[in-house]
Amino acid sequence: MSSGAKIAAPRVAEIVGPANAVDGADKLAAYEVDGVRPGAAARPETAEEIAGLVKYAATEKLAVIPIGARTMLGIGMPPARYDLAIDMTRLDRVISYDPGDLTLSVEPGIPLAKLAATLAEHKQFLPLGVPFFDCATVGGTLASGVDSPLRHAYGTAREFVLGMEFVSGDGAVTKSGGRVVKNVSGYDLHKLMLGAIGSLGVITRVNFKTFPRPALARGFFAAFETMEKALELRERIMRSKLSLLTLDLGSPGTGELFSSATAAKVVPEVVTADLPAHGKWTISCGFWGSTDVLARYEGDLQQMAADSGAIRVDTIGEDEIPGQFGRKREFVAIVSALSPGAIVMKLSVRASQLQEAHAKARSIVGAAPVDHVTLTNGAGVIYFAMLPRRTGDATQACRQATGQIMKAITALGGYATIIRCPLELKREINVWGAPREDFPLMQRVKRAFDPHDIFAPGRFVGGL
Ligand SMILES: Cc1cc2nc3c(=O)[nH]c(=O)nc-3n(C[C@H](O)[C@H](O)[C@H](O)COP(=O)(O)OP(=O)(O)OC[C@H]3O[C@@H](n4cnc5c(N)ncnc54)[C@H](O)[C@@H]3O)c2cc1C
Repeated sequence: MSSGAKIAAPRVAEIVGPANAVDGADKLAAYEVDGVRPGAAARPETAEEIAGLVKYAATEKLAVIPIGARTMLGIGMPPARYDLAIDMTRLDRVISYDPGDLTLSVEPGIPLAKLAATLAEHKQFLPLGVPFFDCATVGGTLASGVDSPLRHAYGTAREFVLGMEFVSGDGAVTKSGGRVVKNVSGYDLHKLMLGAIGSLGVITRVNFKTFPRPALARGFFAAFETMEKALELRERIMRSKLSLLTLDLGSPGTGELFSSATAAKVVPEVVTADLPAHGKWTISCGFWGSTDVLARYEGDLQQMAADSGAIRVDTIGEDEIPGQFGRKREFVAIVSALSPGAIVMKLSVRASQLQEAHAKARSIVGAAPVDHVTLTNGAGVIYFAMLPRRTGDATQACRQATGQIMKAITALGGYATIIRCPLELKREINVWGAPREDFPLMQRVKRAFDPHDIFAPGRFVGGL
């Protein structure tokens, strides 16, 4: 659905050059968002070209969506209007990198895996261990607000994005924050771009703080008969002095998921087949340090697991960490690859309500012909995935359960959003869940950044 305004392909070609103006139904199909196809696409190379495109869109009231590697475009509601796709993949350079200073400035179209390779040459990394890691771009990752198993140790991108350049809705190129850790004063406007799925502006440059890569790392894994006992270990670890890289709670079914052929296709790195244990609740965590520190952590974790009633514990060695970590990181990608009808929800509740939230959501799914698995990260965010079995009423049961779980989590005072689902579900359910009390403030922010309402209209919370 376009805005009704007519996009002029020659005008787009004037701004980015004819070779980088995309039209024709076939090529534009690749830029569809929730089944809505734009009238044209542009492949700019600079922030100035993007500013030119946005100014043109603002004048003609054309709706614009920035597009990265297309891995998370299903986040949010279908666009109400969509005329021009801005393909960000030509902006893929490292602008500056000072390993000594732990600072980095990149263009947003750079894939995370390519950037990780550059940082690895200096034994550094960015804690953006997000799904679709091989191809996802920096800009798309930040705009979609996804988090990762590393959030437990490093926080979200809010903590390590130092500054940004972005093009706002009037075509102005704006800088916010800085390039170093000790920063200039002023509002951190760039933080508003995190999780805003391109509804406030087009990110054109990102300044990061980088981190030294753990030299020696280990993993620890414990299996339990019940969720209560697994949560008991999680609680003990949280109260201990241990500082872990990752801490994840897996429901029964995650073992089967992670050792499936599909998981091996998504993450080919080696894993021992029965880790994590099938049919059990599991706690898995990662930590790093010198040989002495690793041994002490291992001993402490073993003791805490025994005190919590673990039925099995294992240590995950250096060679297995990429595979084990990779499968947790790719939870959403693996579930999506397993079933096109998969629904993945992100449930956030207070730590004290984790048990209740799990129990409520699991009882709602209950006897429905639906398999479900959950992975709960150290920050307490529950990724709840439902996979309909191949029976007639499974899809309908899945949809009903989704609505009920969202209501139950909201009733607990938490937030529930759908981050992956079949398009048909978006016709029945608002993926952003219940309206939040700060919505009037969000409306004002939207008006200030995007006065002509051209950025991804309709996709964000409350139809913004
Ligand atoms: C119009 C607009 C206004 C904004 N105003 C603010 C602001 O005032 N303060 C601020 O810090 N950031 C604001 N942002 C930026 C953005 O909302 C945050 O960066 C985002 O909330 C990231 O939050 P998080 O790090 O907790 O991510 P996550 O918890 O990972 O959130 C992921 C995504 O879910 C969204 N979300 C899920 N459910 C709801 C819901 N029910 N209601 C609202 N959002 C939901 C988040 O906004 C985000 O897009 C705004 C963005 C937009 C588009």
